[in-house]
Amino acid sequence: MVRNVASMQSLRQNMEEMNFDTPPRRTLYEESTAPIRSQPSFPQKATSPEPQQHPIVQLCGTDSYTKQLMNRVATGTATEAEQKEFAQQVQRGFSGFTRIGESPSPPQEDKAARFKQATRENAEKYTKPFCDFLTDNPTVFHCVDAVKSQLKEAGWKELSERDAWKIEPQGKYFVERNGSALMAFSVGGNYKPGNGAAILAGHVDALTAKLKPVSQVPNKAGYIQLGVAPYAGAPNNTWWDRDLGIGGRVLVKEGSKIISKLVKLDWPIARIPTLAPHFGAAAQGPFNPETQMVPIIGLEDSEKPEEAAEPFSKPSFVGSSEGGASTFASTQPPRLVRAIANELGIKSSEYGNIINWELELFDVQPATVGGIDKEFIFAGRVDDKLCSWAAIQALIDAQATDTVDSSIIKAVGLFDNEEIGSLLRQGARGNFLPSVIERAVTSLNNDISSTSIIGQTYANSFLVSSDVIHAVNPNFLNAYLENHSPRLNVGIVVSADSNGHMTTDSVSTAIMQRCADKVGAKLQVFQIRNDSRSGGTVGPMLSSATGIRAIDCGIPQLSMHSVRATTGNLDPGLGVMAFLGFLNGFESVDKEFR
Ligand SMILES: [Zn+2]
Repeated sequence: MVRNVASMQSLRQNMEEMNFDTPPRRTLYEESTAPIRSQPSFPQKATSPEPQQHPIVQLCGTDSYTKQLMNRVATGTATEAEQKEFAQQVQRGFSGFTRIGESPSPPQEDKAARFKQATRENAEKYTKPFCDFLTDNPTVFHCVDAVKSQLKEAGWKELSERDAWKIEPQGKYFVERNGSALMAFSVGGNYKPGNGAAILAGHVDALTAKLKPVSQVPNKAGYIQLGVAPYAGAPNNTWWDRDLGIGGRVLVKEGSKIISKLVKLDWPIARIPTLAPHFGAAAQGPFNPETQMVPIIGLEDSEKPEEAAEPFSKPSFVGSSEGGASTFASTQPPRLVRAIANELGIKSSEYGNIINWELELFDVQPATVGGIDKEFIFAGRVDDKLCSWAAIQALIDAQATDTVDSSIIKAVGLFDNEEIGSLLRQGARGNFLPSVIERAVTSLNNDISSTSIIGQTYANSFLVSSDVIHAVNPNFLNAYLENHSPRLNVGIVVSADSNGHMTTDSVSTAIMQRCADKVGAKLQVFQIRNDSRSGGTVGPMLSSATGIRAIDCGIPQLSMHSVRATTGNLDPGLGVMAFLGFLNGFESVDKEFR
């Protein structure tokens, strides 16, 4: 839907409808010294045929761009685009105008108010919702499901990759892949095919231990144990002696359908016990992850010991979906099957309906604030649910505050498998992001597929790869590079790397800084020392695949890849604020770079 351009006549009508009851007259305006937004695309009309009568009155408390805009409208030199923007401001009851005869009101919040949903002052209001999100959503599947619920509550429409899409300006949509990756996007009311997208991208997977396909292992010394395999290096040495729950998704046969259900056993079921230091060298490691980090989940009943299967005594079948003795459930620890079935309301006679599952261990300790004045958040799985959560909050805020006038697409991509290289289809190296953007743009282009429009879209777009970044650790200052050591509760961090592990460059940093300035967000900077090696993010793979300009910019945390990490209590809110500044500010900032 393309909105009509307001003529001067309709502009006057709008003004009349607003009951400007005093005679129109022109007033003087300050000449701004600030650069005009998008000068190249705002050619001035050659002449102003005659003095025009406009009901434009007094100016107060507006920014320099608005002053310029009003000046042009008043003098008849405004372009159609400017007239349209002006009319929209008037229709919204723009606070920068006062009626003739009234005394000028005190300075109002300027146009930038739309960026300021999240502020440095109210950053703390995001702390508890973020902690609850972390505690309630320990697995990647729960995380994506929670984001979907929040988007639905905010009125966003779910799309399926299997269906045809009808995308419209001012629409807001989301689509998931594999239940573990999600893209959400909104389309500006003034969108035209070829316009860019402002994109935030993060990852929602975290280090964990996944249950093996056959997770039943022979009981040893009266213990029931669980066969788990590492995901991205966990369980690492921070996982010893932690209280571990089990969660994930379970495929259940219901009639003729197989349904994916989320399950979460969030009491401490499993534990990887240390060997006491009294045992000397045996307690010091290094430890064998196959044999010495096997979680215990219970004790055999000494009265009726469960059958201890002899290792390698039978073929390793995948459980059959047809029931009988060789069901999937029969390959898993019986007590775990019972617990999962109880949670899902599956009777013991129906265990055969459990077709398969993907379960993992997670630390059940809730996220909490800590520190003498509660200036920290202590939590598991901060990397990278922190930036991912903040990005979604910012997108919802941006859609609510700046969609009607926007000419661009605003998007957030949450990816799986970043911690293991992003190569699966739900990872950032898959085609999820380009596919979603290209399908949306094609639909907005009247379903005409155009390589040229897609190329133009990417060239006009910008990606903020938002992954967590190392905050300075006071006990290891020597590990950090001087002047590149971010602090907590200050603001998001631009991450640079001379070897291209990050997308950051001077142009992308300048663009992000301009967006941050619009909301008063501070940007810190991090770079690793020459004698260390930088980690990676989804940034380089996404920007190289599409050609989108990009920056790596995220929220700082301590103890990355620990089972229990630390960030600042204000950092989720400061992240939302900066990301909102980007989503709502990129369109105007980008015009400065053309
Ligand atoms: Zn990460």
